[in-house]
Amino acid sequence: MYRTLADSIQDLYEITVSPSGLLVTDSMVRAVDKARRNRDPKGIGDALSKLFNGVASKAAGFQLKNFTRDEIGKRIGWLMDADVTKDSTVKQFLAKYQRDLAMPAMETGIKLGAAQGLIKEVVRTPEGAETCQWCLDRCGVWDPYDANAYGVWARHGASAHGGSGGCDCDIRIQWRMDNDGKTDPEINGGSTAYQAEA
Ligand SMILES: [Zn+2]
Ligand SMILES: [Zn+2]
Repeated sequence: MYRTLADSIQDLYEITVSPSGLLVTDSMVRAVDKARRNRDPKGIGDALSKLFNGVASKAAGFQLKNFTRDEIGKRIGWLMDADVTKDSTVKQFLAKYQRDLAMPAMETGIKLGAAQGLIKEVVRTPEGAETCQWCLDRCGVWDPYDANAYGVWARHGASAHGGSGGCDCDIRIQWRMDNDGKTDPEINGGSTAYQAEA
């Protein structure tokens, strides 16, 4: 499948905003937790390498954060010495590493994309059958500036939905190229018919 620059930026964006780590699997968390308890830095390093490869595969060649060996060693050391009382600590550790890797690649992509018609939009979609009018008024595709001005990011509590649970609208950032779906194959395909006669 052909991927646009916007597709890669979208993937990197999802990684940078995912609090639990989009590419962090349960088996990865278990492996790292085991390595931590065995004081096995290489076991933790292997998981970090896997995450690096996972983020790189989404990054369209943009440079990920270039951690030095020393920085990686410090992170691994922190995890091995951390007072880990909750499973979520390991997961958050991996999620943060993944976000840090993706951030500079995303920023490079956005800078490059700005010159090529990259567009950022806020998309709010109703979920469930009983979305209230207040929410529906805020649903749709918005320019980020308008989204802020019209409160598209705002949610409200259960009372506005007849007490049947709060706002469940899906609200997200969407990246696309401004020529998406607008290329007309006939424009290029038919051009030879208009060659000037010699
Ligand atoms: Zn609502
Ligand atoms: Zn809602």
